[in-house]
Amino acid sequence: MCDVLRDVFGYDSFRGDQEAIIKSVIDGDSGLVVMPTGAGKSLCYQLPALLNPGVAVVVSPLIALMADQVTALKALGVSAAAYNSMLTPRERNAVEADLRAGQLDLIYVAPERLMMDDCLRLFDEVPISLFAIDEAHCLSEWGHDFRPDYLTLGRLAQIFPDVPRLALTATADAKTRSVILDKLRIPDKQQWLGGFDRPNILYKVADKVKSFDQLMAFLSTQPRGAAGIVYCQSRNRVERVTEKLNAAGVKALPYHAGLDDDVRARNQTRFLRDDSLVMVATIAFGMGINKPDIRFVVHHDLPKSIEAYYQETGRAGRDGLSAQALLLYGAGDVMLQRRWIAESTADDAHKHVNRGRLDALINFCEATTCRRNILLGYFDDQRDQPCGHCDICLTPNSLTDMRVMAQKLLSAVIKTGQSFGITHIVDVLAGRKKEKIERFEHDKLSVFGIGKDQPDTLWRALTRHLVAHNQLVVDEQRYNALRFTEHSRTVMRGEVPVLLRSSVTEHIRRHSRNESKGDSNSENSPPYNDDVFQHLRALRKQLASQDDVPAFVIFADITLIEMATHIPKTLEEMATIKGVGTQKLKRFGAVFLNAMQEY
Ligand code: ADP
Ligand code: ZN
Repeated sequence: MCDVLRDVFGYDSFRGDQEAIIKSVIDGDSGLVVMPTGAGKSLCYQLPALLNPGVAVVVSPLIALMADQVTALKALGVSAAAYNSMLTPRERNAVEADLRAGQLDLIYVAPERLMMDDCLRLFDEVPISLFAIDEAHCLSEWGHDFRPDYLTLGRLAQIFPDVPRLALTATADAKTRSVILDKLRIPDKQQWLGGFDRPNILYKVADKVKSFDQLMAFLSTQPRGAAGIVYCQSRNRVERVTEKLNAAGVKALPYHAGLDDDVRARNQTRFLRDDSLVMVATIAFGMGINKPDIRFVVHHDLPKSIEAYYQETGRAGRDGLSAQALLLYGAGDVMLQRRWIAESTADDAHKHVNRGRLDALINFCEATTCRRNILLGYFDDQRDQPCGHCDICLTPNSLTDMRVMAQKLLSAVIKTGQSFGITHIVDVLAGRKKEKIERFEHDKLSVFGIGKDQPDTLWRALTRHLVAHNQLVVDEQRYNALRFTEHSRTVMRGEVPVLLRSSVTEHIRRHSRNESKGDSNSENSPPYNDDVFQHLRALRKQLASQDDVPAFVIFADITLIEMATHIPKTLEEMATIKGVGTQKLKRFGAVFLNAMQEY
């Protein structure tokens, strides 16, 4: 088992439960594997597929992505094929012939195809080592990715009672897990729960002030040529952000449901193939994409829920290298979602659930304690210790009580008759003699100029905070006028604290005094030789486009980084690098050695 691990995959040890899971599958047991993205679920069926007689049938919902998985396996010297509607009749016949001749170790099939009679008959003719059911949460009507086709997989246990079934997923709460076990007839005790934590992802939330500037500042802290996703709420915004990024010299592509199918497919392929692209997308993008080197996920707008956020950010850093998730948190987005929920046609019970989900998300955004613990707690994975690797843990976490400023703000709102938007209110507080102020005689009010010692952005941040806590609303029917809610009076009387994180308030004060020195480049430089790494990446890209395969099929980033760290000088040294198995050593070892010597 360890020989195959070393020779084929180029790894020297198993991770987590991999070994135990693989042993149990080899022994013929079914099981359910819940492990976070990037933990290494694929190995759990790929290795048994090589060791046990017969072909392993991998059920996967995404036909478009099967080809890449197959290519990656072939590059390891594994005999694999995809069997789906994208094949020409000739290709199909060839796969069927290989299958019958017992030449395939793995075959990837979509569920709807697998369960068709002719397909079942075909598989009945050949020995099968196991069924691997990927993205198994698609079986659950409760989940967010329910696929009716998956339900028919329940029949596998009857038709092939002796073939083990291994279900795999990254997100399944208790309810979803019990559905999977039940439908696939997997014994309760055969569950492998690998936790939900993604320790290599650094979570950050920032108050949305000037979103594009914030996005650019964030991108400037990323490693050279890093690939990432920027999620936006609407198609329109996807288009706008893509244009602005390209104009600013960042290579970006759009992806949303409004684009033609072929444009979408082309952009997705380019993103998977090209190392250093930014995909600007609606949530239509991302399910199942297998790109291990996505370095960041930015939420330009508020996601739908913590589940959605965790799923979307989970696409970063599958290779285990450090990755970042940034969420831009704006009061406007909160208002918008509140309104969507209120105006949706869902019944009251659903609205109630959706409101609860939004509140949990707001709670996460406004967190004053470790963000990771809030996320994990949401999935019943409770921790006591702060993680040390989120923005809250990394910045001094004191709170400033802004209640006096809040009182001033609310007074200005009430004295001007709850009819004006934030800009005007701030002008009143700052004591600006603008035409509109004089026209309404707001310069005669007692609140005029009572806030001139504070920057506008701080008033805006405070307004966002009050709106998020339902202590103030933006009336979109009336020119975004700020109005009171039932909670506003207690705040205005100063009866409740208004706590903002000191880091937010200090940050704003510093920036507004124009003292910012651009903390953007403070990120420390990598421990390996980055120039060599970039050189190797360029070589990899060239090889990948020659073969028309995604870059990671040649080598993963982590493998190139190991090369750039240890700089192997011989093929023997090269063979000790993680991710360099026999096949890849043969094909690429010398080329990469040369590239390093040259350098
Ligand atoms: P998942 O399907 O759980 O998201 P993958 O199977 O795609 O994760 O594996 C994630 C990454 O970890 C891949 O780059 C894979 O090659 C690597 N990997 C898996 N198992 C090991 C291991 N035992 N040692 C080193 N790397 C591993
Ligand atoms: Zn933390």
